[in-house]
Amino acid sequence: MPGVWVAGNVGDLRAGVINAAAQGFTAATEINADLVAEDVRRATAAARAPEAVDA
Ligand SMILES: Cc1cc2nc3c(=O)[nH]c(=O)nc-3n(C[C@H](O)[C@H](O)[C@H](O)COP(=O)(O)OP(=O)(O)OC[C@H]3O[C@@H](n4cnc5c(N)ncnc54)[C@H](O)[C@@H]3O)c2cc1C
Repeated sequence: MPGVWVAGNVGDLRAGVINAAAQGFTAATEINADLVAEDVRRATAAARAPEAVDA
C-alpha cells in the first residue's frame, strides 16, 4: 500500500531489538526518499505547466 510503512514486530514478529531498529532506519530512509521524489515530481510538473498544478 503506497505511503504506508512498517518496521519491527508489526511487520516481523521474529525481529529482535537490533533488527527492529534496523528496519526502522530503513523505513525512515525510504520515507525520506519518497518525500524527495514527490517534491521533485511536483516541482517538475509546476515548471512544465504552472497553471495546472495545485498550490
Ligand atoms: C519478554 C520479552 C523479552 C525480550 N527480550 C529480547 C532480547 O533479549 N533481545 C532482543 O533483541 N529482543 C528481545 N525481545 C523482543 C524485542 O522487545 C522486540 O523485538 C522489539 O521491542 C520490537 O520493537 P518494535 O519497535 O517493533 O515494537 P515495540 O518495542 O513493542 O514498540 C511498539 C510501541 O508502540 C506502542 N503502541 C502500540 N499501540 C499503539 C497505539 N495504538 N498508539 C500509539 N502507540 C502504540 C507500544 O506502547 C510500544 O511502545 C523481547 C520481547 C519480549 C516480549
